[in-house]
Amino acid sequence: MCGIVGYTGPHPALNNLIEGLRRLEYRGYDSAGIALGTSNKLFVEKRAGKLSNLEAAIKDVPDANSGIGHTRWATHGGPTDRNAHPHLDNEGKLAVIHNGIIENYVELRKELEKRGHKFTSETDTESVAHLLSDARKANNGDLAAAMRDVCKELRGSFTLLAIHADEPDRIVGARRNSPLVVGVGEGENFLASDVAAFISHTKKALELGQDEVADITSKS
Ligand code: GLU
Repeated sequence: MCGIVGYTGPHPALNNLIEGLRRLEYRGYDSAGIALGTSNKLFVEKRAGKLSNLEAAIKDVPDANSGIGHTRWATHGGPTDRNAHPHLDNEGKLAVIHNGIIENYVELRKELEKRGHKFTSETDTESVAHLLSDARKANNGDLAAAMRDVCKELRGSFTLLAIHADEPDRIVGARRNSPLVVGVGEGENFLASDVAAFISHTKKALELGQDEVADITSKS
């Protein structure tokens, strides 16, 4: 179990993510991490331990109006900085956070390594970052289509959120046997594992169906 939050809207994403993570920290405190979308680049910071360790590490934050944040309850791979989420693809342009367990991650990892992907963590989650990277290319840069395809390859339970530097205002999510709620605000949208993450911003919450893909931007 872990805490997941995504934000896209007119306000600085960092404040909304940290506030959301603080409300979700009861769900996991092995590590915390964020990825912020800025044009053509992601700003990523992650730290083992409590959210306060992450907050102390965050410096020189660029302007960013979208991003994803995670607090971890480790299942695969120890509670280290390297195993903290987000996990990135090899280009460093796509970031993923995950709640749950990818049961077929060993097979997936072997296959991805054969295709040349380099892994930097011991988690089950990192396979998803590499899979999404390839699937996004196969879908002409469409991250939501990539998420739909990747979900078909995954076994287990998950909530996933992803962001790509080429479309920094867009956050894509999916779920299977694990919670994910969409928070619809005024010109701003949230995705989270629990409404507590965004309840002070909007009370309009939609629950996502099994294997349904959520696709939010600040305009949607
Ligand atoms: N299985 C993933 C990990 O160990 C996610 C754990 C979680 O739900 O926090 O990193």
